[in-house]
Amino acid sequence: MHDAAYIGGIELGGTKTVFAIGDRTGTIVRRHTVATREPASVIADACAFFNTGGLHIEALGVGAFGPVVVDRNAADFGHLLDTNKPGWSGFNLMGALAQGIAAPAQLVTDVGAAAIAEQHLGALRDVDIGVYLTIGTGIGGAIVCNGQLLPALLHPEMGHIALHRLAHDRAPSTCAFHDTCAEGLVAGPAIMARFGASLDHFPPDSAEFALVADYLGQLCSNLVLTLSPQRIVIGGGVAHAPGLTHAVHQAIVRQLGVYGPRASAQPGYLCPPALAQDAGVIGAMLCTVSAAASHPAVIA
Ligand SMILES: [Zn+2]
Repeated sequence: MHDAAYIGGIELGGTKTVFAIGDRTGTIVRRHTVATREPASVIADACAFFNTGGLHIEALGVGAFGPVVVDRNAADFGHLLDTNKPGWSGFNLMGALAQGIAAPAQLVTDVGAAAIAEQHLGALRDVDIGVYLTIGTGIGGAIVCNGQLLPALLHPEMGHIALHRLAHDRAPSTCAFHDTCAEGLVAGPAIMARFGASLDHFPPDSAEFALVADYLGQLCSNLVLTLSPQRIVIGGGVAHAPGLTHAVHQAIVRQLGVYGPRASAQPGYLCPPALAQDAGVIGAMLCTVSAAASHPAVIA
């Protein structure tokens, strides 16, 4: 791929789908947004966008909602699994795109795409290995290393890591499968169920705030102990509650004790995303290129 080559990106979201053509620095030169309807209409829109307009793409990256099979070695690679979105369960997304768009294609999850964008252009830009967590309707996560996601069987399901329930906490889990997983205890719906309001209604010195920070601290501590990432980005609607990032960081330091790497106690180790709403489609584009190609001059 030479410097002037264009790459394409598709951010397939639950309500809208974004198509973009840009270069390998992540600069978008043409884009189009459509509502996410049944698969045939969205695929037709994609083909129309990428096959007309005169900009030839040399690679296509797709960041899709899940569950979706991202393992290239799997027989059902690129298929959506069971989903409540009409028409999408079992749909062969990558097969349909390959029939209509003549460019080699890569597939990542929507969370994975955002993580790649943060590593190439945002808060994870100056680290070799980082974790991106989103705390919203659910809890999702991705591990980026040198500009790409770690290879995996299935996309990581960090939200379903089991945590230690606090002694006084009797609230039922909102996860259908687990009584103590992070998502069931402190994703947005779990917070609404247990407190009757979203977290931003509670001050940082409240017991409600401390409970959420403790659980998210446990989740992050598990990730620090397993992966030893150089930074963790925490985004999503719940993470927007003022003061939460600081409180979770304090919980991590407290919980890890002497097993916490010194750097994990430094300010900024846990931080919000740096990119805004374009992260998904930019990350989809950039999953087709290596980190070294997108930013040859690494920031010191
Ligand atoms: Zn769960």
